Amino acid sequence: MDMDELVMAVDLGGTQARIALIDRDLEIRTRSVEPTRAREGAEPVLGRLIQRMDRLGSDVGWDRIPAIGVSAPGPLDPQRGVILWVPNLPDWRDIRLTERLGRAVGRPVFLGNDANTAALAEHRLGSGRGHSDMVYITVSTGIGSGIISDGRLLLGHRGLAGEVGHMILEPNGPRCNCGSAGCLEALASGTAIARQARDLVAAGGETFIAELACHDPDCITARLVHEAATGGDAVAVELLRRAGTYLGLGLVNLMRLFNPGLVAIGGGVTNAGEFLFAPMHATIRERIGEIYWQHCPIGPPALGGDVCLKGAAILAWDGLADR
Ligand SMILES: [Zn+2]
Repeated sequence: MDMDELVMAVDLGGTQARIALIDRDLEIRTRSVEPTRAREGAEPVLGRLIQRMDRLGSDVGWDRIPAIGVSAPGPLDPQRGVILWVPNLPDWRDIRLTERLGRAVGRPVFLGNDANTAALAEHRLGSGRGHSDMVYITVSTGIGSGIISDGRLLLGHRGLAGEVGHMILEPNGPRCNCGSAGCLEALASGTAIARQARDLVAAGGETFIAELACHDPDCITARLVHEAATGGDAVAVELLRRAGTYLGLGLVNLMRLFNPGLVAIGGGVTNAGEFLFAPMHATIRERIGEIYWQHCPIGPPALGGDVCLKGAAILAWDGLADR
């Protein structure tokens, strides 16, 4: 085994495309960060990405780089290495990513969706170390997630498992981005909280959310709802209580299905803290026996902004070992 080997990790995010060379201890040696400019279309983005990968690989020598790991937005098919589509980017459909990148740089490429790569890294390096069963959830514009079960990332038949955000909790609930309705994401994500706040303001609810948003509905965000709640606004507190209750219901279902020993829950919306977490914990205690939750801490993830890069590196190292 050549200890000087490095894998190339790519984190193809909505705003930034990050590339790094990462060693076996999962330390980042070199990195390059540029804007993704995803709206320009899949082809130009991939063209620029391949150029950058080639430059970085040539700098250290491709003979030291046995594999590439890629974290990308889903839904995607990790086995075939295809990005199926990307919400809100119509041009990003059926992109045969591993084939394209692999052909360009002559190395095997391993692909995972961003929430799954984050879950892998959090499990291996963050709060999940030592746990064989954990759930990772990030609540922001949407709700992303990954499930580690019996020490392995749960992928399912076509790699589409572990989509906590699309558990249906209200059959007649609001429409969801996935085409269904009443999913956890449509009830408790930042987008969902902001939409509910806008509806209440439009209906003339007694709240100072409208003032905080300078009476511009487009300025109403989950962060602003949190700000209103902190100032004692009862409508805002109720909005966050509802979202927290739905998160609690989602966790109850997950606890029954996977019996995790840890839940790592983060993302911008969780900055609302106890406004969200108190009703979440209350719901869990109400709905499921303590055998499920008394030894299952629920807390923030430990890793920061490099989580998907590190997860992509884990994909590459594990992928090589499995070959
Ligand atoms: Zn959905």
